[in-house]
Amino acid sequence: MEVSCSKCNGSAAVYLPYGDENLCKKHFAESLEKRVRRTVREFRMIEKGDSIGVAVSGGKDSVSMLYLLKDICDSMRVPLVALSVDEGIKGYREGTLKIAAENCRKLGVEHKILSFKKETGITVDEIAKKDERMRTCSYCGVFRRWILNKAAREMGLSKLAVGHNLDDAAQTVLMNFLRNEPFRLARFGPSGGVIGHELFVDRIKPLIRIPEREVAVYSIIKKMNIRFGRCPYAHEAFRNEVRVFLNDTEEKFPGTKFRVFNSFMSVRDALGGKFNTDETPMRCKECGELSSKEVCMRCHMLKELR
Ligand SMILES: [Zn+2]
Ligand SMILES: [Zn+2]
Repeated sequence: MEVSCSKCNGSAAVYLPYGDENLCKKHFAESLEKRVRRTVREFRMIEKGDSIGVAVSGGKDSVSMLYLLKDICDSMRVPLVALSVDEGIKGYREGTLKIAAENCRKLGVEHKILSFKKETGITVDEIAKKDERMRTCSYCGVFRRWILNKAAREMGLSKLAVGHNLDDAAQTVLMNFLRNEPFRLARFGPSGGVIGHELFVDRIKPLIRIPEREVAVYSIIKKMNIRFGRCPYAHEAFRNEVRVFLNDTEEKFPGTKFRVFNSFMSVRDALGGKFNTDETPMRCKECGELSSKEVCMRCHMLKELR
């Protein structure tokens, strides 16, 4: 027997176990869009007067986010531009950059590509050759955030949207607990960073309450041009353990990922920034960007690599 949508007579395309709900394509897309709008409103991610940068890698999360934010920003008359980072990963990044560009063209969104080589003098391929401790992902993450923040600020953008979904968030929360890193956890959230500092462009995560699987379904339903695939250097062993554990637990106990995230949000509010007050942000003496130490992580890592 064909299962029908909980909201209409159409045939169901998606089952949401945590809500025990079957939805047709149309009602699933509407539900997801509504939830993203609610998150954006709840955490005041986008407001009148903002100008938004969207970090677009070409994967399903960032491209879906671009589509969703384009709609939201248009309805609020808030300008939006897409930023992609070319880390210099041969055989992988060229394809995703092309896809990012195609989606921007289709939506009529300005697209800017920022390069690792130009901004730091080194590509991820070069880093991987020098890196013996399997830390390529850490280098890449630090450099990418540094480049995006600097570019967004220089372009006069007030917020930078990143495509972290609920799975990413639940993984990060659990990882920080398992590693006893409350300082990192205190800085984590739906919008984050060194809020309000002139050198820092606030980061927002509009997909933080959308499970990864649903983002993937949405991108397919909307027939987006997307590259499914992983960076050849992705080898975050610990995160993978946590991902597998969360996926297994979610299957047995639907709603687990939501509960991990919601628990974190309650604890975070209760902490009231307890772990966040003893660091006075300053300017890195090498690059002049925001830093918690005399030399920022990016400049420290660059020295390590030389
Ligand atoms: Zn329906
Ligand atoms: Zn620096």
